[in-house]
Amino acid sequence: MATIVFFCIPAHGHTNPTLNVVRELTARGHRVVYYSYDDFREKLEDAGAEFISCNGFDAQMHLTREEGAKVGSDLALSARVLVDTTLALDEPVCRQMEQLKPDCIVADSMAVWGKAVAKKLGIPYVCSTTTFAFNRESAKIMPHSLKETLSMITSMGKVNAQVKRLKQRGYPVKSILDLIGSDETVHTVVYTSPLFQPCAETFPEHFAFVGPSIRPARSEVEKTGEKLVYISMGTVNNDMLPLYQACIEAVKDTHWQVILSVGDQVDAGKLQKLSENVFVHSTVDQIAVLEKADAFLTHCGMNSASEGLYFGVPLVMLPQTSEQGGVAARVEQLGAGLRLKKTTPEVIRGTLETVMNDPSYRDNVKKIAESFRASGGAKAAADCIEDCLRAK
Ligand code: UDP
Repeated sequence: MATIVFFCIPAHGHTNPTLNVVRELTARGHRVVYYSYDDFREKLEDAGAEFISCNGFDAQMHLTREEGAKVGSDLALSARVLVDTTLALDEPVCRQMEQLKPDCIVADSMAVWGKAVAKKLGIPYVCSTTTFAFNRESAKIMPHSLKETLSMITSMGKVNAQVKRLKQRGYPVKSILDLIGSDETVHTVVYTSPLFQPCAETFPEHFAFVGPSIRPARSEVEKTGEKLVYISMGTVNNDMLPLYQACIEAVKDTHWQVILSVGDQVDAGKLQKLSENVFVHSTVDQIAVLEKADAFLTHCGMNSASEGLYFGVPLVMLPQTSEQGGVAARVEQLGAGLRLKKTTPEVIRGTLETVMNDPSYRDNVKKIAESFRASGGAKAAADCIEDCLRAK
């Protein structure tokens, strides 16, 4: 029996795929200790992990919602958040590692404090990634815009200052890439299939592409129209009133039943009055809707895109970040959806009609869905972690 310590960021999309992995590891007789945040305690304990809360020692960053949404795309802000969190957790976590004596650390690719502690204490480490895996080949699908490149260059001074703070506390890091870049020498669990992952064949054997983890539906949706169209821009950057208005205009004279999930920053009640065949909610049981949907207009967050594809639904895509742009590019390459070229009602309606009427989209989506189901799931992820234990 091994002791395996998990670290994750406070995000459901990053935590959920690991739950079945925890179940599988504990069923195999391992002890799993999971560092996370109070909101996640119940589901982690249900899965069989011993929960340790990071809330108590966490850095007090007081980020606004807008700043929070920028973490991940604003490099200087991301470096500050990651380093603040790592340093706040440094002392208590290092002390606890001496007692726990883990055989292996499994850290989400964004929970750099897990990776940093493993590096500092020389503990074997597995990376868990809910986005595509990156190397020179796969990164080509995600070209940065000129604006993003310039902002990266101008933020390098601030980023290096953060790296220096880590070095001063004994962390062996040379640059920010040591923390946020993928490392091909490290065992890595990737929650997508070898078919959907760009250039999967260019990664070493200890990269396990285990497929997405899809939660069960909590309800059943009744299909009342000829077609069911689902629209959602995810849970973070969803304050997009003009887009929702254009969508409603686009579908109001159709026989389609349209479910629009707008999040909590837009008044769903006001939009609801605009058309009778459109049902506006601040949040829905997305899995239940996708089980019945014929098309999904999505921002291409990795979870939403994977969920849509898993249920055989062709995508119409409006990515907002370079990561989402990479997912959209891959979906287009595989012929499973179309990017929205403009957000006018005419283009929205035309693009939805194309993906619903041309059967090639559904056929290509089906191939991806089959690859997701054939990727080994939590068992394959647990095998990858046990492989890292053996390689110690
Ligand atoms: N989601 C949901 N109901 C909604 C909107 C979203 O359950 O009304 C879920 C969705 O199923 C997905 C997650 O929220 O699992 C969104 O994650 P994603 O990575 O797609 O986008 P993000 O919100 O992180 O931008």
